[in-house]
Amino acid sequence: MTRFAFDIHATDGKARTGTIRMMRGDIRTPAFMPVGTAATVKAMKMEDVRASGADIILGNTYHLMLRPGAERVARLGGLHKFGGWERPILTDSGGYQVMSLSDLRKITEEGVTFASHLDGSRHLLSPERSMEIQRLLGSDIVMCFDECPRADQPRDVIARSMEMSMRWARRSRDAFNAGGEHAERSALFGIQQGALDEGLRKASADALTDIGFDGYAIGGLAVGEGQEAMFATLDFAPEQLPADRPRYLMGVGKPDDLVGAVERGVDMFDCVLPTRSGRNGQAFTWHGPLNMRNARHAEDTGPLDERCPCPTCTKYSRAYLHHLHKSGEMLGAMLLTEHNLWFYQQLMAGMRAAIAEGRFTAFAADFRRDYLAR
Ligand SMILES: [Zn+2]
Repeated sequence: MTRFAFDIHATDGKARTGTIRMMRGDIRTPAFMPVGTAATVKAMKMEDVRASGADIILGNTYHLMLRPGAERVARLGGLHKFGGWERPILTDSGGYQVMSLSDLRKITEEGVTFASHLDGSRHLLSPERSMEIQRLLGSDIVMCFDECPRADQPRDVIARSMEMSMRWARRSRDAFNAGGEHAERSALFGIQQGALDEGLRKASADALTDIGFDGYAIGGLAVGEGQEAMFATLDFAPEQLPADRPRYLMGVGKPDDLVGAVERGVDMFDCVLPTRSGRNGQAFTWHGPLNMRNARHAEDTGPLDERCPCPTCTKYSRAYLHHLHKSGEMLGAMLLTEHNLWFYQQLMAGMRAAIAEGRFTAFAADFRRDYLAR
């Protein structure tokens, strides 16, 4: 059995399509990973997540360590068994959410002490504890523990933070390698930092490559810098990372972000947008996003998206979805989440096919013409 392999089948410009092979299954790239924060992709049964085309989902270390607790998940047989998802799971390190969600943080070289946003209880997250939690969860792709500073800070602050993250990356590698049997069937990804600065990004990429990882993430983007600044950084950041390894852009994004990032050489993504938007009444379609609460859908008997083969579009009208969302019915959140996940997976499948056939430029142009029109 292959622990981890990445085969690139075709490239078109900087865009690549391939397959990551792991013991729990293959991951077709470019890949979109639905976010299963608390051992659930909200409003979806796992069999329906799989039916949408997802090969891998993401779990959040921060949320799971606080509730139900990593040791409890381990006693219950691990995250796959607990949540009913047999295929690969990527877990984040907890670093990003401890910065954005917890209270009373204190960051030292050792790690981050913080108070839970749930009950105020005190916890430590360090590279070693993050690796231990991800091992207890049974993660297939483990992420290094890093600090994700705000991108609008002075260069010397960003530089010091990046350098500490690289020391934490080394500690993460060592702790992961000491994980015994888990280390023999899972993979570890490093995370490039350095905000929008090309020199810092290069230094980070070199430090990570020196340590050696199965894949490399681009961290510290999609934190409020805007699409133009993100794309400007992606014009150089992916190419600084090893070409023969998967590149994962964390926390991205909108459908047009995904197309622009694949165009720049990114292979993997995760984002709460399709699921969160689905609960809030926003639908993604080939003709741009729609707010289903809008009165113009009240008597529209057509489907959400003419081109979408998902269960929601096959069976229900825009008028019905409008009614469910106006009434606060939970089925509204379920149906729109399911459509949005199908839409994201169809977009990834469309990009994979276009790259394989050498027509990605035309695919991206057609997508933008329809999606960004209005
Ligand atoms: Zn649909």
